[in-house]
Amino acid sequence: MDARPAENRPVREPGSNDFIRSIIDADNRSGTYGGRVHTRFPPEPNGYLHIGHAKSIVLNFGIAEEYGGRCNLRFDDTNPEKEELEYIESIQQDVRWLGFDWQDRLYYASNYFEQLYEFAERLVGKGLAYVDELSADQIRETRGTPTEPGTNSPYRDRPVAENLDLLRRMRAGEFADGSRVLRARIDMAAPNINLRDPILYRIRRVSHPNTGDSWCIYPTYDWAHGQSDWIEGITHSICTLEFENHRPLYDWFLDALDARTPGRPRQIEFARLNLGYTVMSKRRLLELVREGHVAGWDDPRMPTICGMRRRGYTPGAIRNFCRSIGVSKTNSQIDLAMLEFHLREDLNKRAPRVMAVLDPLKVVIENYPAGKAEQIEAENNPEDPSAGTRMLPFTREIYIERDDFREDPPKKFFRLAPGREVRLKHGYYITCRQVVRDPSSGEITELRCSYDPQSAGGSTPDGRKVKGTLHWVSVAQALEAEVRLYDRLFSVANPAEDAQRRNVDYKSFLNPDSLRVVEGCKLEPSLREAAPGTTFQFLRQGYFCVDSTDSSAEKPVFNRTVSLRDSWAKIERADKPT
Ligand code: ATP
Ligand code: MG
Repeated sequence: MDARPAENRPVREPGSNDFIRSIIDADNRSGTYGGRVHTRFPPEPNGYLHIGHAKSIVLNFGIAEEYGGRCNLRFDDTNPEKEELEYIESIQQDVRWLGFDWQDRLYYASNYFEQLYEFAERLVGKGLAYVDELSADQIRETRGTPTEPGTNSPYRDRPVAENLDLLRRMRAGEFADGSRVLRARIDMAAPNINLRDPILYRIRRVSHPNTGDSWCIYPTYDWAHGQSDWIEGITHSICTLEFENHRPLYDWFLDALDARTPGRPRQIEFARLNLGYTVMSKRRLLELVREGHVAGWDDPRMPTICGMRRRGYTPGAIRNFCRSIGVSKTNSQIDLAMLEFHLREDLNKRAPRVMAVLDPLKVVIENYPAGKAEQIEAENNPEDPSAGTRMLPFTREIYIERDDFREDPPKKFFRLAPGREVRLKHGYYITCRQVVRDPSSGEITELRCSYDPQSAGGSTPDGRKVKGTLHWVSVAQALEAEVRLYDRLFSVANPAEDAQRRNVDYKSFLNPDSLRVVEGCKLEPSLREAAPGTTFQFLRQGYFCVDSTDSSAEKPVFNRTVSLRDSWAKIERADKPT
């Protein structure tokens, strides 16, 4: 029972009365676990976490929070060949960054290796497990198919004492890697292939990040996972749908070990999160990293938590996204736009507004005194007055966005054009008087303009209206930066599935334009002090974040986190670049 007074309990999100919470409610009503709610997030430390894991983290930690229960972080570290300390550390960092706390409950399946081994001896003692000497290939071949039963191993009926002796000798290191396995003795004709005498232990002389060289036999994931939940007193083992047909096996193990309800974990499966235009399996993500298709696990195009962090995504946005998509029993694909919606919602509230010109065109204001530098006060966030203001230098020479000028403006283009007057954000009205071109290339190199000294603050005494408002940066004080613009990592919605169907490599669907580097961008000088990882709204352009790896005082680098759907001035709606 949740002992906390009602006002201290987290409020359930609207729409969170899903089937998982209904099961927990029912268990709480019937007292199955005495009102206890204990979940866990159980990653295998064989890669970095991705947005799919975030869904599981938000669900498991969120449920524990809502019910006044607990959530463990447990590494299911049964496969030392693929596991690394780097992953163990990054996973903890990512869970913390997402805003969750396992307190003192950080566990490893490898903490239970001794206990799991004792369980295995118990099964052997009951005649429920045997040491098999078939090769891995033979075991695979005799497993049968979904429509045909498997066949019994010739070693299946060894006496208990012989099995026990062999298992102990396996552990003692008397046999070569791969020469023997321990298998559960269930039913080679079971319709569920998982029940056809699954492997519990393999011989493998590999050092383990946690247990070093103390074991040369390692439990399989299936043998370790359910028992680890049971050992930890997990009440609700929440996992993804592909484990649905492992549940009978986990139940068989617990039955065989006389773990009776109440108290034994109840497994509940939900549909994994799939996002379009990306891949999410750790095997593929690792391949993209190893083969250099991306700059690392934290490449801002990756669907990893660290990639999203580097890109400028916020933990709040990811949490809100995960909660809003809810849980279901059927697999589906979620549109990235959903995540971006939550991202904009969150960034809109917190990101300071600044001005940055990505494709600069120089403007000389002819009637503004040379050498004069005026300081203009500018609000940092109209959504948050407590964010305060900053000073912007205004001078005779400024940059505007090349795209904000048309010599021959189409209809509804309300920005700058010859003879036309526009407003400079936080600054003056300017009118374009002359276009200067490079005589050889014909490219526009400069605009000569005039300004109205009476238009400071965005209006004039005569109440004259202008339709366009442009962002700008003073030339002399501009901070030059590299800006990285990202697009989808793959050019098709389902790279993995399409590749399989068409029998091609999924990497052939990598989007060649997923990264566009723009050099020579001009940023307002206040960004000189921006700390790595900070996200800003570049007015009219989107949200951008200081790259935490490559940015330096000498060469600032900004990542585009997400574009703006709407520009900041409503009057500009019709005036958006297309
Ligand atoms: P992948 O298949 O992406 O390589 P995995 O499932 O092998 O990942 P684990 O480390 O075993 O990765 O996952 C830890 C937990 O996260 C598991 O409980 C798993 O069910 C859950 N999880 C993994 N991927 C997703 C996803 N796309 N959506 C929701 N939960 C997920
Ligand atoms: Mg897994």
